[in-house]
Amino acid sequence: MKNISILGSTGSIGTQTLEIVGEHPDKIKVGSISGNTNIELLKEQIIEFKPKLCCVMNEENALKLKKMLPPHIKTEIVSGMEGLIEVAEYEPSEILVTAISGMIGLKPTLAAIKKGKTIALANKETLVTGGQYIMNLAKKNKATILPVDSEHSAIFQCLMANDTKAINKIILTASGGPFRGRDIEYLKSITVEDALKHPNWSMGKKITIDSATLMNKGLEVIEAKFLFDINIDQIEVLVHPQSIVHSAVEFIDHSTIAQLGHPDMRVPIQFALFYPKRMKNSFESLSLATIGTLTFEKPDINTFKCLGLAFEALEVGGTMPTVLNAANEECVKLFLDKKINFLSIGNIIEEVMLSHCPWEIDSIETILAAEEYAKTKINEIL
Ligand code: MG
Repeated sequence: MKNISILGSTGSIGTQTLEIVGEHPDKIKVGSISGNTNIELLKEQIIEFKPKLCCVMNEENALKLKKMLPPHIKTEIVSGMEGLIEVAEYEPSEILVTAISGMIGLKPTLAAIKKGKTIALANKETLVTGGQYIMNLAKKNKATILPVDSEHSAIFQCLMANDTKAINKIILTASGGPFRGRDIEYLKSITVEDALKHPNWSMGKKITIDSATLMNKGLEVIEAKFLFDINIDQIEVLVHPQSIVHSAVEFIDHSTIAQLGHPDMRVPIQFALFYPKRMKNSFESLSLATIGTLTFEKPDINTFKCLGLAFEALEVGGTMPTVLNAANEECVKLFLDKKINFLSIGNIIEEVMLSHCPWEIDSIETILAAEEYAKTKINEIL
């Protein structure tokens, strides 16, 4: 029996992780979970999966949840960042699924890495914001990082039984989001509601907006660089609207291996939870004959400047990706609150980056200071 912990169990990845647990009740057990505002769902999850520990970020919500639980439930309820770290460090769990969205996932993920746990990484901000520092820390503590992001899981699977030194390039596929093929003129007038309609994947709000701006792909480029230890010029982004080819690797002999499947996050989640084993499931089989056509095109980085900014941040290095990520997180919040328009997301991030002289990342404090810098700068700009 494998024990797992989940940061962000009520979100899109969290609920799908619990679906996988539900499919294999004799193989995986949930030790600890965390959530924030959706305490109704947390209550249901606690009753069904009986974790020993649950953190509700907000203290008031934690108290409410305690009162909602039936008396026979013995789950300990904690709150705040300390509680989140407790969930991440929960001793019996060998795997931590970081399904929490945003920079808030950094501290608890680091805590689990220091305990040598396997990280099923769905929180891409962790590697974007801390990159090499986090990979080094994982190596030092013998913590394995398994990608859950569909593209990185695809690359990881393409690399199995292959020498990573023989990589020529990594081809990261992108759906192109809901505004693929549109120009800047069109993007001027789009609304929050337009941006939240993703053609293929059903995901949380933050990542759906990131997909519409192509920043999601930018963050994935940065994630791939650190995860697979490759050079920037070895990463190619390819728009593939059908989202069937989840990514590919070309080797030095010009043989290319790709991983295909329906756009269903449960596949990479299950792969990470049972790695290196493959498990049967009830998901839909892929029929390429039914799909018929797969198409590919180059991304339009003039219209979708966020993708270009991510490559630039990676090129500059140090805290520049940290600042890019923090600025993006703020801008997405502002956009969702209807305080800035869609195109301002990229423009503001660019302005923040231009003003930042990057530092070397040698501690978590440097990362947090860079995040703070981005937030302060955005306030100034506004
Ligand atoms: Mg992805």
